[in-house]
Amino acid sequence: MNKPYQRVLLKLSGEVFGGGKLGVDPVVISGIAKEIAAVVSGGTQVAVVVGGGNYFRGAELSNNGMARDRADYMGMLGTVMNAIALQDFLEKEGIHTRVQSAINMAQVAEPYIPRRAERHLEKGRLVIFGAGSGMPYFSTDTVAAQRALEIGAEVLLMGKQGVDGVYDSDPRTNPEARRYERLTHDEFLSRDLKVADATAIALARDNALNIIFFNLSERGNIGRVVQGEPIGTFVSR
Ligand code: UDP
Repeated sequence: MNKPYQRVLLKLSGEVFGGGKLGVDPVVISGIAKEIAAVVSGGTQVAVVVGGGNYFRGAELSNNGMARDRADYMGMLGTVMNAIALQDFLEKEGIHTRVQSAINMAQVAEPYIPRRAERHLEKGRLVIFGAGSGMPYFSTDTVAAQRALEIGAEVLLMGKQGVDGVYDSDPRTNPEARRYERLTHDEFLSRDLKVADATAIALARDNALNIIFFNLSERGNIGRVVQGEPIGTFVSR
């Protein structure tokens, strides 16, 4: 068992918000908000990057005829809706929460200002980063690695829906699939594992950022991983 983390960046993909469907599932988000709130109340500084795959993925829309950059902006706007939903449920749990957006929309979010985000964290507030990087052709996985580095998070926590780590093949279709307990970033890249995009892993590798993939669907796992319990798959240099 490792020591507990002080400051973490949690990536929540869009499929988590929708419970596998389009839009947001209040029951699911409320459950996640409760778990995150317990961790923040325990003194851990938590920042969150939200995905948007429960609304739009730019690559999918562009396969259906849209220009990729326009489609990607739609994808980024979807992440802001998830950010607002999560903020609402966290505040219901009594956690002061700020949303920072990489695309300016002053009525619903602060602009992305990394030093201000760090100040929020120091004051015990939770910060949600929405709108990805503000740039097409990126993914929220890559943004999660970048934000983790910029705010000085000790680890990037990749919460997955119903999958308890990184496998050598898809455990949903292959019953023989085996889970890795540890991997290097280079092994992750050379084995072409699909659970996170390669740009994110390469950025983490080049800057010595550790990543933990874990099952978000199992209750209490956010608390466990923050406490340093060895669950999921640990990726390091
Ligand atoms: N996106 C983008 N730039 C970014 C982050 C996201 O263009 O910096 C767009 C992209 O179209 C992506 C969509 O937003 O498909 C939703 O993000 P992502 O697919 O990473 O969400 P997740 O898979 O985590 O739900």
